[in-house]
Amino acid sequence: MREREGRVNLKNLSLEGLREFVVSLEEKPFRAAQLARWLYGRGARQFEAMTDLAKAFREKLPERAWISFLEPAEVQASQDGTKKYLFLLDDGERIESVLLPEKDHYTLCLSTQVGCALGCKFCLTGKQGLRRNLDPSEMVDQIVGVRATLPPESKLTNLVLMGMGEPLENFQSVLRALEIIRSPMGLQFSHRRVTLSTAGVIPRIEELCSRRHFVKLAISLNASTDEQRSQLMPINRKYPLEDLLAACRRIPLDNREKITFEYVLIRGVNDSEEDAQRVTQILRGIRAKINLIPFNEHPGSPFQRPMDEAIQRFREILLAKRFPAMVRQGKGLDILAACGQLGGKV
Ligand code: SAH
Ligand code: SF4
Repeated sequence: MREREGRVNLKNLSLEGLREFVVSLEEKPFRAAQLARWLYGRGARQFEAMTDLAKAFREKLPERAWISFLEPAEVQASQDGTKKYLFLLDDGERIESVLLPEKDHYTLCLSTQVGCALGCKFCLTGKQGLRRNLDPSEMVDQIVGVRATLPPESKLTNLVLMGMGEPLENFQSVLRALEIIRSPMGLQFSHRRVTLSTAGVIPRIEELCSRRHFVKLAISLNASTDEQRSQLMPINRKYPLEDLLAACRRIPLDNREKITFEYVLIRGVNDSEEDAQRVTQILRGIRAKINLIPFNEHPGSPFQRPMDEAIQRFREILLAKRFPAMVRQGKGLDILAACGQLGGKV
């Protein structure tokens, strides 16, 4: 993790770690909760601002620690209300977060890596390859940084880990960020309002789901046969469909909880009626809902979005087999902020 002259970035610490840190400064453990309230509740950027901490403690802090923050270098607004935030990291790398306004709240789409190693053929982030993993602080700071640009009464209540990168390939840092995101001492998001999307790293899916009430899961399915999926998503050669779906069947779900399956619809590649039939067959017995994402075009990609009729026909076949299926229209298409269009360039 990126540190500064031996000082620790407090937002990279777990909450237990924050307690240990405070104790190492010979302070009472409860001071950690006070510190966390400043860091996460109020988004403080300087120790001087933390007026309810004893002066001696406040003065000790900057010798041993520092507070990171991310200020958007650029915010682009789409005609549909979606906003894309570009953040410049300490080492000059760039990441993007996308803010989606909904009826009565906002959803923020977070990045977990700079680039991605998995190289899915339809994805702009995948084209870059992996540049590096994000630290926990860099994930948390996307939230704190975006929240600071919103009016105080705004409800930023939902998160999706669906921006740049594969969250389960940066597992330890994502787990730590999720702890801070969900904790009452941290950012206080409900586990029902946080969704992690994965291309299908099976062992980590299993580990994540063994922690009950962790977060909601979305699986990028995108195909209905191994041959088709391996061509679009190289990770399928390591973790093939059958194993992935078997793992999904073992996930313990709450009462009405479902696993989301994302399916990028690409014209002439995976959008036929037979494809739709096969999707209903391979998902049989899984409490699934399906998000159909018409392929979002980006410069240099050979793929095309299907015609609207093909999209609707695909959906109807899923609905006929009683799978809830929604078409997720690319939000922020005009500013390349939709799924798979994040490249981190200005
Ligand atoms: N790496 C994770 C999360 C980030 S990708 C994953 O793959 O699930 C988030 C979603 O965007 C995935 O469901 C992916 O299939 C989808 N996606 C990628 N490129 C796309 C594109 N060009 N058009 C539409 N959806 C795309
Ligand atoms: Fe990586 Fe997800 Fe893009 Fe695939 S779709 S390259 S896993 S970010």
